Amino acid sequence: METSLTMSGKTQYYLELEDKYSAHNYHPIPVVIDRGEGVYAWDVESKRYYDFLSGYSALNHGHCHPKIVEVFTEQARKLTLTSRAFHNYWFAEYARFITEFFSYDKVLPMNTGVEAVETAIKLCRKWAYEVKGVEKEKATIVVCEGNFHGRTSTVISFSSDADAKNNFGPFAPGFVSIPYNDVDALAKVLENKSVGGFLVEPIQGEAGVIVPDEGYLAKAKQLCAQMNVLFMADEIQTGLGRTGKMLACDHENVRPDILILGKALGGGMMPVSAVLADDEIMLTIKPGEHGSTYGGNPIASRIAITALQILEEENMTQNALVMGELLRRELNGIHSKHISIVRGKGLLNAIVIDHPEKDAAWKLCLELKQNGLLAKPTHGDKIRFAPPLIITEGHLLECVAIIKKSLSCLD
Ligand SMILES: *Cc1c(COP(=O)(O)O)cnc(C)c1O
Repeated sequence: METSLTMSGKTQYYLELEDKYSAHNYHPIPVVIDRGEGVYAWDVESKRYYDFLSGYSALNHGHCHPKIVEVFTEQARKLTLTSRAFHNYWFAEYARFITEFFSYDKVLPMNTGVEAVETAIKLCRKWAYEVKGVEKEKATIVVCEGNFHGRTSTVISFSSDADAKNNFGPFAPGFVSIPYNDVDALAKVLENKSVGGFLVEPIQGEAGVIVPDEGYLAKAKQLCAQMNVLFMADEIQTGLGRTGKMLACDHENVRPDILILGKALGGGMMPVSAVLADDEIMLTIKPGEHGSTYGGNPIASRIAITALQILEEENMTQNALVMGELLRRELNGIHSKHISIVRGKGLLNAIVIDHPEKDAAWKLCLELKQNGLLAKPTHGDKIRFAPPLIITEGHLLECVAIIKKSLSCLD
């Protein structure tokens, strides 16, 4: 790189480099991050920001948590991968740890979130045919409108987001979509005896933090149990303390039949995902029927154990609950005419921008960046506010001041 680059030239240089050589499958905020620590990220010009996206909730523990860095680097020097053609003892330890932690019989380890969703879909179908007795090739899975479960061709088949689907067809059959937060629609669709499972996000994160009515999850789980249908919770974004409980389903004391985890399970350092279920479901998959080369690798296994331990040791879940309430109270207290809605649970929150300009949310995010806070719009007019769960009251109030100040750019 040329040494004569000015400070802002540095950012420009990397933006152009990426634009030239990377696929254009994202539209990032124009900031080039160089370093992260806790709730902060620094760009290549050494400007400091509060990270209010937290890697879409993968960074619940904050950036570069020292304990996770420690086990990561220690394990990297010793053993990184065996594949599951052979055993490694950290996977065995991790399997015991995570199943005891969430009270399930078994875990199936994968890497990315969408792989865990795919795994849940496959498990659900196996169970439908081999345990429930659904006619071959007829099993369906019920999903919700506005869902986000990842980007594979099967998973986008049941997306209702036009951008996620446009010219990616033909799509996989076997999914039935119903409105979110609608127990009557669920009751109706479950009358069909070939339904194997109901796949749901306890809060729809990507859709703009859509929090369902109180009692929705409990009622949905009850309906599924009645109709012998698996209740599958995608807690990839809502799990691991994010909403102020270990799982968002815990708010209604709902135990999913299949629990899907990802994002923060990798401590913000590795893609680590997991599917948890009891033996009746999990043991329908036999050796050779499903797998992943990196799934259950010793680094991932150790990181996941440590990530879960730290959540408890450092009381991050409780902090998310308290800080979330404070954040929503403070945001509502701004009384900005540009914010029509403040919503969320724990530290998974969003504001909805009310403004005649179509790109007002984007403009506000650029202003937030200017003032030292990183956030990203989702679906046009919504901005997610999801800082790391370690954020303190002092930091949070500073962030609210930044948001308040930045809103004036929309006047
Ligand atoms: C992020 C996310 C996924 C996909 O995870 P990837 O690791 O990006 O594949 C699936 N479901 C939900 C609810 C998510 O938030």
